Amino acid sequence: MKPAIPPPQENLLGLDKLELCQLAEVLDEPKFRGKQLFHDIYARRHRDFAQCAELPAHFRQILSSRYRVDYPEIKGRRASRDGSVRYLFSLHDGESVETVYMPDEGRVTLCVSSQVGCAVNCRFCFTALLGVKRNLDPGEIVGQIIAVTCAEQHPAGTPLNVVFMGMGEPLLNLDSVMKAVRIMVDADGLAIALRRITISTAGVIPKIHLLAREAVRPKLAISLNASTDEQRTELMPLNRKYPLSKLFEACRAFPLGSREHLTFEYVLLDGVNDTDSDARRVGALLAGIRSKVNLIPYNAGQGLPYRPSPLRRVLAFQKILQDQQIPAFIRISRGQDIMAACGQLRLAEMGDSTAQAAQPLSSA
Ligand code: SAH
Repeated sequence: MKPAIPPPQENLLGLDKLELCQLAEVLDEPKFRGKQLFHDIYARRHRDFAQCAELPAHFRQILSSRYRVDYPEIKGRRASRDGSVRYLFSLHDGESVETVYMPDEGRVTLCVSSQVGCAVNCRFCFTALLGVKRNLDPGEIVGQIIAVTCAEQHPAGTPLNVVFMGMGEPLLNLDSVMKAVRIMVDADGLAIALRRITISTAGVIPKIHLLAREAVRPKLAISLNASTDEQRTELMPLNRKYPLSKLFEACRAFPLGSREHLTFEYVLLDGVNDTDSDARRVGALLAGIRSKVNLIPYNAGQGLPYRPSPLRRVLAFQKILQDQQIPAFIRISRGQDIMAACGQLRLAEMGDSTAQAAQPLSSA
């Protein structure tokens, strides 16, 4: 008996090993052909089934006549003076998302999107201005990685970090994000080390608990961005539903490997959340949690009222955390000249009046 599964989507990108094995069986092939197909699509990056030399000719023909391997289409590419490259992808329904390729001292970090737009509505974020359009499917998530690494001719030996810090709230699209992650870490897939994958969340607490129970679990980063509930609710309205006490309860319950830590991101906004008292309160919140803090200078643009904190504030904030034995790093904003803050480029491409006034492009 063949398994009763619905015919898969025509675009095979995003199907996992099990689904491709089921597809092989439905097409009267032995199951292991599905594994070979998985390897061909993700590890060898074949888009044309004729290239799949291990597969028998008749199977290749059937696949070619019924299915495709489609990557998201590159609609724009902008290189920054600092070496980072921002991609704008066009999806099958005309929607678009952004991905940023950031080379840095022998490794590369890829910042990927999980949704078209975002529903979370953080007041300082450009993606929030778009609202949420839809979730990305697993193929659209791994497709960003494959398309960008191919276009950049990413050298095979260079370590690749993947951070879900592009457009969207990954924990509000957890099923697709996790399916994509499993394809990424599979040795026959993209073969990316699990410890190099980070999901960043604004703090969707029930989903943090779900992520904690995943067998294949990427690292977790929490966008903290404030030191009191009042301040956080102002900047990130989801804090009303998911306040700091509950957020830290979930953080304390999150399982960590022996050398692992939780990352807390803190976007420093001039005169809003960057005082010495804020730093001391952040230190108190993190007490007893194996954590590190990434201090992110704000990437500003007109249309939103926030400004980056001056460097001396950033340094003072960092020192107060370090004095409390909390590792704190300053994350230099990459791609300022290419509007690399979340959602900025897409807004500009849409001709949105808000972003028209955003930072000018100064390099191509
Ligand atoms: N929704 C997820 C992931 C996307 S945002 C989250 O909130 O974590 C990724 C990070 O970028 C978050 O830490 C967010 O606070 C930060 N961010 C958003 N807009 C920014 C901007 N204009 N400048 C600097 N950091 C920004």
